[in-house]
Amino acid sequence: MMRSRILSVLSACLVAATVAAGCGADVAPGSMVPVRPAERPLPGGVKLDPEVPKENKDNDCGDPTASLAPSGTSVPSGSTMDEIRKRGRLIAGVDQNTYLFGFRNPTTGELEGFDIDIVREIAERLLGDRSKVQFKALPASQRIDALKDGSVDLVAYTMTVTCERRKDVEFSSVYFESGQRILVAKGSDYKKVSDLGNKPVCAPAESTSLTNLAKEDPPPDLIAVDDLADCLLLLQQRQVEAVSTDDSILAGMAKQDPSVHVVGEQFSKEPYAIGIPKGNTDMVRYVNAVLDDIRNDEWDQLYGKWLEPVLGPAQPPAPKYR
Ligand code: GLU
Repeated sequence: MMRSRILSVLSACLVAATVAAGCGADVAPGSMVPVRPAERPLPGGVKLDPEVPKENKDNDCGDPTASLAPSGTSVPSGSTMDEIRKRGRLIAGVDQNTYLFGFRNPTTGELEGFDIDIVREIAERLLGDRSKVQFKALPASQRIDALKDGSVDLVAYTMTVTCERRKDVEFSSVYFESGQRILVAKGSDYKKVSDLGNKPVCAPAESTSLTNLAKEDPPPDLIAVDDLADCLLLLQQRQVEAVSTDDSILAGMAKQDPSVHVVGEQFSKEPYAIGIPKGNTDMVRYVNAVLDDIRNDEWDQLYGKWLEPVLGPAQPPAPKYR
């Protein structure tokens, strides 16, 4: 247990402090050795006993990846798209901490990545200008809330479609297929998820990654973060044994830090789709028309630019409609 590790470090420090103080012997204060904690403090927002999102075992929405058929890219007056046009900008909830999908380029300060470019493709068709986007950087745990309170028009955010989530939001067709694996230090003995039972493993808060890990027997000791960069930091500091989430996200971490690598087989399917507020079915059909267009053309270019160098060649996923 992470907590028992922290406790044992604290008691070791107490023992060390007693020894350093000469166990009550006549030692001058000046000769005391300052005792520092052996482990670094955890980054803010780390949850040691996170809530695990429940799984909809019956898949009572049928195939969650089957979306609404595209409607073309015309914009009827009074539609959701018409409102966005009148506003003059698309408001998109995105990530700013996931390298290659949604991250802030430290040199330019701009948001970049595959998900960011998908949003720009939608803005180009809807508003005639890729730059007419207001990006709202959110933690993954806020994706559903931002769609529910209408503060964003859509969320493009490595977001897996599930029946459970479809109770709260609409989803476009699938634009990327991922799957969960593990990221470990090079040279570590961990080769697959089942090697990590009762070991501290980091994953994004409120993610399907936590749900999948909790199914292992015995499960890992789960640690959740709002900011995925903290998972990499915890692994670098050896406060966790592994990070586990979608391999497309882990590949970006491995690219950032050559001392870690992705291992084992995929143990889940993570189809990504654009999240859209519940009831905005006109927007779902519109976005699906844009995605159809992208699949025939820009998808290869965007995949080649961001993901092919780390993930190898791939085809765009075929859309499914209900
Ligand atoms: N794709 C998974 C999910 O939507 C895990 C990664 C993430 O949280 O973005 O839960």
